[in-house]
Amino acid sequence: DDVLVDVEGLKKHFPVESGLVNDALNRVRGQETDKVHAVDGVSFELREGETFGIAGESGCGKTTTGMCLAKLYEPTAGSIYYDGQDIADKSGSELASFRRNAQMIFQDPFESLNPRMTVYDTVVEPLRIHDIPNQRARVRRAMEFAELEPADQFFDQYPHELSGGQRQRLAIARALVVDPDFIVADEPVSMLDVSLRAGVLSLLEEMTDEFGLSVVYISHDLSLLRHMCDRLAIMYMGKIVEQGPTEDIITDPKHPYTKSLIDAVPVPDPNAGRERVELEGEVGDAINVPSGCRFKNRCDEYIGEVCDAVSPPLEEKADVDDDREAACHLYESAEGFDPEAELAGR
Ligand code: SF4
Repeated sequence: DDVLVDVEGLKKHFPVESGLVNDALNRVRGQETDKVHAVDGVSFELREGETFGIAGESGCGKTTTGMCLAKLYEPTAGSIYYDGQDIADKSGSELASFRRNAQMIFQDPFESLNPRMTVYDTVVEPLRIHDIPNQRARVRRAMEFAELEPADQFFDQYPHELSGGQRQRLAIARALVVDPDFIVADEPVSMLDVSLRAGVLSLLEEMTDEFGLSVVYISHDLSLLRHMCDRLAIMYMGKIVEQGPTEDIITDPKHPYTKSLIDAVPVPDPNAGRERVELEGEVGDAINVPSGCRFKNRCDEYIGEVCDAVSPPLEEKADVDDDREAACHLYESAEGFDPEAELAGR
């Protein structure tokens, strides 16, 4: 399949604000401010017409990855190629075209929609920005597709007059109205009432088919991703630890983290009314990133010094299908990487 977006070695680090005085002292001493390594070397490709899932616990870097993909964050390092060109090098009309083609749907439609804009203005705004003609007809079509109909009756309403489900449908209409190539959907239903989720998910599925879109789904919910995605990446502490076809990963996980995610019992979260996954052990420090494998302190299958000292690259493995990759020393590299030799060379 043709590659639509190619992500290579993506990093996004955020400075930790330690207060004005400390920051000034650091500058005087020539010390760097601490950085949170939110995304720390992520590579994957989004193929034309596919649905790709990014899974992981909160804080693993999946949302930051999505924000970089939609160019809402500038990466600290690495590249994102679209149409064969690094999006960091795009400017002028090329950049505008990328922005039109890369749309994002957020977890909380209430936060992502402007409360002072009517429904019509919300949906038409991207058409105005990109100077696309036939605006009223396009708005109506996008809204009818998102099942906000009859569209005219919604035009003058404000987001607060809509239900949660209608607001997410409005966000979907706004993303679709410019006829994009791909959409990044970050936890698109986790804020919705359980009774509304299936409807919005089937709308997203129809959208993918009908518009021939590629979609990146970001979620902590593996069963949702299993339902929606052709391929899946599992993230842990800013890195992808495993990726490949969704069914293969769910039914035959290779990485110990993926195994524990699948085994984890979903625990109802009393505060949010939604489910979260609970694993044993603490997630490592994202500022002073541990050496070696980042999962080592929680791993049941830890095999000693190589795990401590050698960071496992995400790569194809000798006894695992070609279209899968894992970052773990338990499996022999199919790409010639030798962790023992790395260790001996230190
Ligand atoms: Fe566990 Fe070692 Fe594999 Fe990391 S590299 S997941 S610590 S076995």
